[in-house]
Amino acid sequence: MDDASRRPRALVVGGGISGLVAALELRRAGLDVTVLEADRRWGGCIGEHEVAGLRLDSGAESFATRTDAVRTLVEEIGLAEDVVAPHPSGAWVILPDGPAELPKTGVLGIPANPWDAEVRAALGLWGSLRASADRWLPAREPRGTESVADLVRARMGRRVLDRLVAPVVGGVHSADPALLDADMVAPGLRRLMAEKGSLAAAVAAQRGAARGRKAGSAVAGIRGGLNRIVAALVERLEADGVRLVLGERVERLERATGADGSTLWRVGAVVPSEGSEEEALLGPEDTYEADVVVVALGGPAAVELLSDAVPALAGHEPVPGPEVKLVTLVLDCPALDARPRGTGVLVAPQVPGVEAKALTHATAKWAWLADEAGAGTHVVRLSYGRAGDRVPGVAGVGRGPETDNELFAAAVRDASTLLGVALTPEDVTGWDVVRWQGALPFATVGHRERVAAIRALVGAQPGLAVVGGWAAGNGLAAVIPDARSQAIALAGSLERGLPS
Ligand SMILES: Cc1cc2nc3c(=O)[nH]c(=O)nc-3n(C[C@H](O)[C@H](O)[C@H](O)COP(=O)(O)OP(=O)(O)OC[C@H]3O[C@@H](n4cnc5c(N)ncnc54)[C@H](O)[C@@H]3O)c2cc1C
Repeated sequence: MDDASRRPRALVVGGGISGLVAALELRRAGLDVTVLEADRRWGGCIGEHEVAGLRLDSGAESFATRTDAVRTLVEEIGLAEDVVAPHPSGAWVILPDGPAELPKTGVLGIPANPWDAEVRAALGLWGSLRASADRWLPAREPRGTESVADLVRARMGRRVLDRLVAPVVGGVHSADPALLDADMVAPGLRRLMAEKGSLAAAVAAQRGAARGRKAGSAVAGIRGGLNRIVAALVERLEADGVRLVLGERVERLERATGADGSTLWRVGAVVPSEGSEEEALLGPEDTYEADVVVVALGGPAAVELLSDAVPALAGHEPVPGPEVKLVTLVLDCPALDARPRGTGVLVAPQVPGVEAKALTHATAKWAWLADEAGAGTHVVRLSYGRAGDRVPGVAGVGRGPETDNELFAAAVRDASTLLGVALTPEDVTGWDVVRWQGALPFATVGHRERVAAIRALVGAQPGLAVVGGWAAGNGLAAVIPDARSQAIALAGSLERGLPS
């Protein structure tokens, strides 16, 4: 028996960032690791595409710097030199009464100081006055759950909610702040509020921590695109001897007895047929056996896969997130060299005549991309779709553009309005539509408790864990440390021979 065959075996289901990071930790703990990914590429919500000859991120494009979590990984995989700050001009918000600069010192649009000039301009005198009441209100230890909207409205008033927070939350999480759990989308903020005495002070403390790390910016990117993280991680895993399997969709997970009488997990995976995502599976099922399994899928898919092995999960299925449609336009438009709306625009939900919820001016945001595109050529990315559009059980907000052609037409129209520059289809030298179905977790109020309940049920099974954005909170800064700690705990439980 050689060394490898004596090692405990781990299977990771899903090759998004959470699965890849879990694999890294499991391998580091000495396990023999296999990752199974249904798609024919790694990275899940971190992807790339080519538009008008430019290689661009097709999903996630920056990471939050509120902690060192992403930076630590980036250093580990050799990309430390390529971490870049966005252009300091910041973003704008489009309000029903016109555009305003988005305060640069906020977290999710919540200001650190209601009297900053940009905050004052966005809120007006009475808005800033009301927001200052936050300083005098008692700040208790967080009890129970709270929506982002309830938290902000109670502390700082409706104008902060409507004019700053709703546009940012809509842009980042594709949902109304009234639906979202504050602890999921602004992790640590309520606890910090109790410690610092006010919401503004908590925001200032979080931003201050970020400033110490990366040039005052709340986010950072990677020169050449965030998707390089995936390529570097895959390279590292390959070098570490992790078995990486693309194009195998796991459909079955069950407890079984191995040839030597030991209890293990058995996983059945199929090869989805090319071109048809929905049906027609090719070939026989491949089976894999392992001592530990990490399920690194979206919430609904994870719970469905686990439902045979953990029947008590019935009724715990998380709500799927909204479909997000991203329209990328490459424009020949020298007027945009002046960055008329900084790095991009967030749209308040009440703004009439604009269907996009956000626009990123990518060539204004990232210097490396502006260099690649050359003066006069611009990349803008508009996002469409909010929770409520198509989520069962949630009131709809009306049908937005759906087909590629509808989305293209809306994007040209919206880009003109949002950037304040007249654009026509003739200015577009290339475009693409990317759809992310249910990729954003829908972290409604109480989500944290629901995740804890799911994790307790899953963790009661020996050698089983769930990771991913739906469990950890949206975004790399939440997903990466969570996947690491879950994988470490799982490997540790194996060492002690205990259920995780
Ligand atoms: C459009 C968009 C933009 C975003 N922008 C940012 C950003 O700028 N910054 C940021 O920090 N975060 C951003 N996020 C969020 C961030 O990308 C996610 O939180 C994170 O990538 C989630 O990773 P994950 O591994 O949990 O899930 P995923 O990335 O969803 O990975 C799950 C993987 O599992 C695979 N899979 C599914 N079913 C099976 C199966 N049965 N068997 C095997 N494999 C399966 C999928 O193909 C996929 O590769 C964005 C998300 C989206 C959708």
